[in-house]
Amino acid sequence: MAEPHEDYPAVLTDAHGRTVRYLRISVTDRCNLCCRYCRDDSVPFIPHENILRFEEIEKIIEIAVTLGVHKLRFTGGEPFARKGFLDFLIKIHRRFPQTALKLTSNGTLLAPALDTLKELGVSVNLSLDSLDRAKYASITGKDVLPTVLDNMHRMLELGIPLKINAVAMRGVNDNELPALAAMAMDWPVDVRFIEFMPMGDSTIWSNNLFWPAADILESARRHWRLEPVALRRKDGQGSEGHTAEERGPAKLWKLITPEGQVSKGSFGLITSVTQSFCQSCNRLRLTAEGNIRTCLFDDREYPIRDALRDKGEEEVRRIMIDAVSRKPVGAEILAASNGPVAHKRMSAIGG
Ligand code: SAM
Repeated sequence: MAEPHEDYPAVLTDAHGRTVRYLRISVTDRCNLCCRYCRDDSVPFIPHENILRFEEIEKIIEIAVTLGVHKLRFTGGEPFARKGFLDFLIKIHRRFPQTALKLTSNGTLLAPALDTLKELGVSVNLSLDSLDRAKYASITGKDVLPTVLDNMHRMLELGIPLKINAVAMRGVNDNELPALAAMAMDWPVDVRFIEFMPMGDSTIWSNNLFWPAADILESARRHWRLEPVALRRKDGQGSEGHTAEERGPAKLWKLITPEGQVSKGSFGLITSVTQSFCQSCNRLRLTAEGNIRTCLFDDREYPIRDALRDKGEEEVRRIMIDAVSRKPVGAEILAASNGPVAHKRMSAIGG
């Protein structure tokens, strides 16, 4: 995987002194699953003609790279629900070999792509909220857990760098913490619980469902001794853990059994709600219809699709720089809100 380059330009710098290095691209808002916390069937998909074409996404990546972006994550919707996505990924890898490529996926459609993902060095964040087949089906709307687990095992066999993300929901998957976290015992994966974010007008989010990170941590401590994973320095010295860049916003711990057995992977928390990581946020999002979004919690979006089609790349560059200069501190938006923080649901933004 490519390491960040110190000599990349720092053009995308905001008013809080943060520099954007990381572009998350929603390649489609369509998904073959319908996770209850993420989207609902009543919201229509974006019409095809309004979705960015792959050549347009490639152009926007090229511009972003010249502005200092060195890490790309493809998400959605489900990236593999878009026809031609794998070929697009191959093309992006060839054109931008120094750029780290990452993928967020529900894992259902990965089978034909796995060898290529390995070859390209793409790392995968797999969304997996339950290991109970009936519950998985009730959360996602599809009885496909065995397929996801097959693909997960295949990724582990191939040595594809893998993180597992579970949206933490009290009364839904809190009783599965031991089973989900135990995957980190046996395999070199980070199993991260993400605090349920109150996104979207029709979200099912409620205080009752919200399971805060402090409580998740306490639950984990009932099963294991937890030892914080130290960060590895970029020069490879120090502990065997991740660099700050690889770790992202997760807090990570090794799990240690009462018998002293140490987990191969790590247990993690993404505390998007109770403990923000806004001060180190280096992200920018590109929505499927071609809007720049600077913060999950901020509904302001900056359209670049038509600018690219009608005015060209110089205008896109200008809009990107301007958007980043207005990047807010998401935690302040969250603190000021009593209800959902964003109008759109995650499936329409690209989680
Ligand atoms: N389809 C892909 C997948 O399932 O991973 C990518 C898109 S999905 C929107 C990206 C991530 O957003 C998933 O890990 C999902 O669990 C997470 N997510 C969606 N809504 C969320 C919410 N309200 N709070 C926290 N995480 C959420």
